[in-house]
Amino acid sequence: MIKNGQDAHPTTWDNLFSPNSLTGTKPVFPHSRRVGLHEQSLPTQAKFGASLIKKWYSLKLVQTNQTDTYEMSDLILFWHRRDLRIADNTGLAKARQLSNKIVGLFCLDSHILQGDDIATVRVTYMMGCLQALQQQYKKAGSQLLIVQGNPVKVIPQLVTALNPKAVFWNWDVEPYAKKRDRILLELLQAQGIQVIEQNWDQLLHSPEEIFTGTNKPYTVYGPFWKNWMGKSKANPVDKLENITGLTVSELEVAGQNGTIELPTAKDLGFVWDGELIIAPGETPARERLKEFAAGVINEYQEQRNFPGVEGTSKLSAPLKFGVIGIRTVWQATMEAWENSRSEETQANIRTYQQELAWREFYQHVMYHFPELAEGAYRDTFKNFPWETNTDHFQAWCEGRTGYPIVDAAMRQLNETGWMHNRCRMIVASFLTKDLILNPQWGEKYFMQKLIDGDLSANNGGWQWSASSGMDPKPLRIFNPASQAKKFDAEAEYIRQWVPELRSLDTQYLVSGKISPLERHGIGYPEPIVDHNLQQRRFKEVYGQQKNGQRWATVGNGLKADENG
Ligand SMILES: Cc1cc2nc3c(=O)[nH]c(=O)nc-3n(C[C@H](O)[C@H](O)[C@H](O)COP(=O)(O)OP(=O)(O)OC[C@H]3O[C@@H](n4cnc5c(N)ncnc54)[C@H](O)[C@@H]3O)c2cc1C
Repeated sequence: MIKNGQDAHPTTWDNLFSPNSLTGTKPVFPHSRRVGLHEQSLPTQAKFGASLIKKWYSLKLVQTNQTDTYEMSDLILFWHRRDLRIADNTGLAKARQLSNKIVGLFCLDSHILQGDDIATVRVTYMMGCLQALQQQYKKAGSQLLIVQGNPVKVIPQLVTALNPKAVFWNWDVEPYAKKRDRILLELLQAQGIQVIEQNWDQLLHSPEEIFTGTNKPYTVYGPFWKNWMGKSKANPVDKLENITGLTVSELEVAGQNGTIELPTAKDLGFVWDGELIIAPGETPARERLKEFAAGVINEYQEQRNFPGVEGTSKLSAPLKFGVIGIRTVWQATMEAWENSRSEETQANIRTYQQELAWREFYQHVMYHFPELAEGAYRDTFKNFPWETNTDHFQAWCEGRTGYPIVDAAMRQLNETGWMHNRCRMIVASFLTKDLILNPQWGEKYFMQKLIDGDLSANNGGWQWSASSGMDPKPLRIFNPASQAKKFDAEAEYIRQWVPELRSLDTQYLVSGKISPLERHGIGYPEPIVDHNLQQRRFKEVYGQQKNGQRWATVGNGLKADENG
């Protein structure tokens, strides 16, 4: 969708013909209808009135298949944010239809890079992806420009200097991004620059597309999935090719107006010496997808639960940064489906598709309920009396809780920047239900460590684990020993990440029943809390909180927590 004027709503035929769009420089159209508009012969509103003009446009729209709104030599700046690729990028493909002269832009946003929820590994991966993107632009015949600072300051400065025909970008769901984009849109439009915010490139279905029967956003995954799955999905769009970039003198102007050489993560103060779970850039992401779709996906349903097995795609970081297009991923799953020979294989593929839908569900709810980013959704958890034991929190962060499966998971996170999904659920349950600590502490720590750290998915995962979110199931408490028994029965994962435990018998590692003497001998800590005791305590506090809330809400006439 394209936006023109200051209207934040999707372009409709009504706001398309608002006085703003008619008196502005040029009319802008939804691309599905953007065909053959002759600006020179545009009738004025005064002469014809809005409804006549609408008719005129509709006639012209069906008459021809070309556009002269843009000259092919017009400069279009494409601002990349979480779409660090040139293939299967909806906004970029649409820009390409209008011009040959496409120049990429990325802003090293100081608000994000200096935030307290940034991860060294994530920045390292991102900077590698930018390097790869820069090479892709070069190969295609153009450049990726880099600016640094506050986007609403540095981008208008560069735009003023280069005076492009338009600035394009793809939409985002996060509250910060939405606000930033709105400000920038207004600033650029005030400069007379056309801003074209394109589709929901990062999603198969936009948050404006999937609603309940009563036209409300879904708050429960099950019915969301059914609706989402029932809709047809778009194919990947064309790769950016054969373009031109800035001339030498234009590049000089850009340099005088804020563009810099692409720094390394180290230059920015982020030093990651470990390996990355996936090499940066579109090519490694595509290779990973190809390999996964040809093999592991066929056993995904079963294997994805075992942290000691390579049973998942490990595509979360490429998906977070849009290093691979979501339509490309979907297409690979559909091809695997078509090639599958049994219903069993199809069930595995379907489970993987369900995970992709979880990703979209969490982005949709973040878009519609931005307050999720601030804390608990359910009332019972809004003023929950979380404990404040920072020693416990520190032990959890460092993988020294004395619970082998929890410690293995936290050490995997600290050492690699990634953690298996099963373990994310185990450690999140442990933090909130065993240590009775605020899920926001864990949520932030994850953001400080994860290569795939993503507000929507991370917040969704934490709210789910803490039982504070939209999930209708009231209480979910994981027993670390039962989880280990079920999903790491041979303690392979525990041994991999907690080396001091390697020599112990599997049964002790899985159950966690290691004698104090043994623990002392190998330098492994005593359990910092007793799971059974803490579980009872948590339930007690939860019960009190719920009852208290009931009394309070009955007292002031409001409804008590509906999910409880
Ligand atoms: C407490 C907690 C925090 C989490 N934080 C994040 C996060 O910051 N970023 C993130 O991408 N995922 C997060 N997840 C979801 C999930 O753990 C990861 O997406 C997954 O482990 C990534 O590995 P993979 O790519 O091999 O996943 P696969 O199993 O191969 O799944 C394929 C893709 O589907 C998406 N996906 C899978 N499961 C989920 C899910 N539960 N929610 C949302 N998307 C999902 C991811 O994009 C993933 O890459 C979190 C889960 C929990 C319980």
